[in-house]
Amino acid sequence: MIQMIRRIFSRTTEESIVECRHCGANVEPEADFCPGCGSTEIASYEIAS
Ligand SMILES: [Zn+2]
Repeated sequence: MIQMIRRIFSRTTEESIVECRHCGANVEPEADFCPGCGSTEIASYEIAS
């Protein structure tokens, strides 16, 4: 459901989802750590549609 919403607002055919592995919060792609919990375990997913 969340991915469907993201696709509507995204004009690109390819999107990158960056989230914290620790708490699952969405993180800015440039961020080195999670602003929510401070974890440096950032997961990045490239989704091509
Ligand atoms: Zn986090």
